[in-house]
Amino acid sequence: VVEQADVVVVGAGVVGAACAEALSAEGARVLVLDRGAPAGGTTAAGEGNVLVSDKEPGPELELAKLSRQRWPELLATLCDELGPGLAHAEWEAKGGLVVATTADAVEPLTNFARAQRDAGVRAEWIGLAEAGELEPHLTKDITAAVHYPDDAQLQPVLAATTLLAAVRGRGGEVRSGVTALSVTTTVTGALGGVRTDSGTIACGAVVNACGPWSGEFSACAGAPIAVLPRRGIVLVTAPLPHTVAHKVYDADYVGAVTSDDVDLQTSTVVESTRAGTVLIGSSRQRVGFDETVRIEVLRELARKSVNLFPVLARVPVMRAYGGFRPYAPDHLPVIGEDPRLPGLWHATGHEGAGIGLAAGTGSLLADLYTGRRPAIDPFPFRVDRPAVVEEVSA
Ligand SMILES: Cc1cc2nc3c(=O)[nH]c(=O)nc-3n(C[C@H](O)[C@H](O)[C@H](O)COP(=O)(O)OP(=O)(O)OC[C@H]3O[C@@H](n4cnc5c(N)ncnc54)[C@H](O)[C@@H]3O)c2cc1C
Repeated sequence: VVEQADVVVVGAGVVGAACAEALSAEGARVLVLDRGAPAGGTTAAGEGNVLVSDKEPGPELELAKLSRQRWPELLATLCDELGPGLAHAEWEAKGGLVVATTADAVEPLTNFARAQRDAGVRAEWIGLAEAGELEPHLTKDITAAVHYPDDAQLQPVLAATTLLAAVRGRGGEVRSGVTALSVTTTVTGALGGVRTDSGTIACGAVVNACGPWSGEFSACAGAPIAVLPRRGIVLVTAPLPHTVAHKVYDADYVGAVTSDDVDLQTSTVVESTRAGTVLIGSSRQRVGFDETVRIEVLRELARKSVNLFPVLARVPVMRAYGGFRPYAPDHLPVIGEDPRLPGLWHATGHEGAGIGLAAGTGSLLADLYTGRRPAIDPFPFRVDRPAVVEEVSA
């Protein structure tokens, strides 16, 4: 049992778990705290897509490429370390298929894919017949299609618990049901520990990985950052015979991801899971932490998915679930040490891509923590950028 840690990671979602794993791989004594159960927050609501296809060229795409490369390597390493029984995250490099369904959507999709190709993403324009071969149940009413061989999928809760199992296996600890209340400082003003509802833990560094609650925890720690919730809902069908092979989405999804609109947005994203269910996502709405499942949102998701896969009109829906994507106002993750309080680190704000981006985030944070030169430029993700710290004080 760790009584005193080098690093306390607050939040056992996939991002906290990835940071804890990467830090423990460096030899740090890591303690992970969560007020609920591990992976019980937003991570449990994620569909598990590990995507490069929906990111425009820029820092988030660089992090996505790093993460896409890192996930399978990491899972293979953990499989060796823990055995396949413990390290089983349903990793599947199934590829993504992005389709346009109107004449107007062809040019934006083509331009988007071209820019991504220039940024090193494998994006293949395919004909309508080929799209039909990849997805036999796809509507014939498509106007363009791009295949992204590097899009992948994993099961987010299993991925997080696998990472946490590695932390434990290296002598670290994971405590559930413990709420971090604030941090403590030493006489010199440096961070000295974390105060929880079951006592204070001395440590040299704290990582705020509280997902959509990161803004709240950062304020309690005296170094507020602007991270807010963006609601998302997913519909789940009953298990079906093999119906959808890839991750398939409508090109308007990218617009919804990057939009600043407060109102409801839905765009069709359809994929199957290993259990045979088909996940139909997803909505985006800023409603604070309101957990109401609205029927009009479900209806809209169902209607759009049937446009893409007419066969889904006849399948039963088993359930719907929702969660809160943690977003920063400039839609970029916040990864690094807080210059206002050295020793306080943040790894949050991954919005609708935290599962995909977790592996890269963990390695970036560990590189910064150990003073090693990171594989990608960390500057765009720094804590003290105006959108993250000035929006809070404004
Ligand atoms: C509907 C939907 C679909 C999504 N689909 C995908 C997808 O396909 N691919 C993808 O990459 N991303 C997806 N996402 C986004 C992804 O789920 C998130 O970006 C990711 O899970 C964030 O992980 P996290 O670890 O930062 O936060 P969380 O998983 O929310 O973890 C934060 C943890 O912190 C704990 N906590 C908070 N405050 C405290 C405190 N004071 N003390 C102790 N513990 C605390 C919470 O209990 C929680 O467990 C989706 C999101 C939604 C809502």
